[in-house]
Amino acid sequence: MSATIIDGKRVAAELRDSVAARTAALSYKPGLTVVLVGEDPASTVYVKSKDRAATAAGIAARTIRLPATTSQADLLAVIAGLNADDSVDGILVQLPLPAHINSRPVLEAIDPAKDVDGFHPVNVGHLHEGRPTLVPCTPLGVMKLLEASGVTLRGARAMVLGRSAIVGKPMAALLTAADATVTIAHSRTRDLAAECRRAEVLVAAVGRPEMVRGDWVADGAIVIDVGINRLADGRLVGDVAYDECAAVAGAITPVPGGVGPMTIACLLENTLTAAEARRRR
Ligand code: NAP
Repeated sequence: MSATIIDGKRVAAELRDSVAARTAALSYKPGLTVVLVGEDPASTVYVKSKDRAATAAGIAARTIRLPATTSQADLLAVIAGLNADDSVDGILVQLPLPAHINSRPVLEAIDPAKDVDGFHPVNVGHLHEGRPTLVPCTPLGVMKLLEASGVTLRGARAMVLGRSAIVGKPMAALLTAADATVTIAHSRTRDLAAECRRAEVLVAAVGRPEMVRGDWVADGAIVIDVGINRLADGRLVGDVAYDECAAVAGAITPVPGGVGPMTIACLLENTLTAAEARRRR
């Protein structure tokens, strides 16, 4: 069997276009402010792409760049200002923050109604209660890819590999809300390969290059690879050994070009969702 490739670039482009069409029909521009502290090179690149994609979708995008030496108190003051600013619908603090800043209180300081990353405990709580509001962008993107793959999630056995707060846990909550029967695996799971083989839907988010091998995947399973790992030779690979797994899976996402493009597209959608919800109130 040779797997169908789930084309994240195409699905993300469609989502960006649909956000752009919806914003064009509004009488106002949704506003997204990204706060970048320091000059981490990867974060700088991400923030530029977010800014570009938001602007192209008709969102008023702004990046506040703060020096790496910014104190926690000063960062909290910037967030308080954005919370109070009516032109700002979405606030995103780019992670990671410099080591001297504790990210938890910073993320908790963002108004939950403007929390387009979906990391605030209020939004996490809504998600785990099964009434998602603003949902973390990467797992939200995975749900859209699963929808595009045509898989029926109701009653399906789903395995989420990884239990981080930004991917694994919200992913498991979304799959549960979609009526899948969900297992979460992590570094203490016994016999990971056997657990994975039971899955009809397998989402890998571990940050270990090509850890999921072909013989971990059930015939015809849907495999979503969230991992982004840069190898010493410069190659970018996922958490899934692509060629081996594509030989047995029913459908699979490539890296790059799978989940990655969905994350920014979902950020745009979250910004629009936040803008519409704030104006309804
Ligand atoms: P993370 O916070 O490091 O969490 C990794 C999870 O994987 C943890 O729950 C850990 O288990 C588990 N794990 C690690 N090694 C394992 C092993 N050998 N066996 C079983 N489980 C293991 O990572 P993350 O932030 O969730 O990111 C995961 C991957 O997704 C990374 O490659 C990251 O670059 C990528 N990512 C991509 C996007 C995107 O836009 N496409 C967005 C975010 C992240 P414990 O909890 O037991 O430690």
